[in-house]
Amino acid sequence: MMNWLFKISLQDIQEDSYEEGKSDNPCICCGKNIKNPTYFVHLLTSGELISSDGDMEDSQGLFPIGNACKNKLPNNFYFKSC
Ligand SMILES: [Zn+2]
Repeated sequence: MMNWLFKISLQDIQEDSYEEGKSDNPCICCGKNIKNPTYFVHLLTSGELISSDGDMEDSQGLFPIGNACKNKLPNNFYFKSC
């Protein structure tokens, strides 16, 4: 099975109005607080999101994304928490 990985720059999906430090569980896209984070994106040190939740060297970890914002991404770029 081929396992293609795709990347998107975080800047491309982050809204201009995004403000850092506004909440404890900010959506990575819009910065609004997420009460019960359900979906996550995988951020790399390069500032890109990757379409895999597997371990990798340049991972910064998984970051929550809001329900509405996740729909702006291709569905292989967000992961449901278990
Ligand atoms: Zn959002």
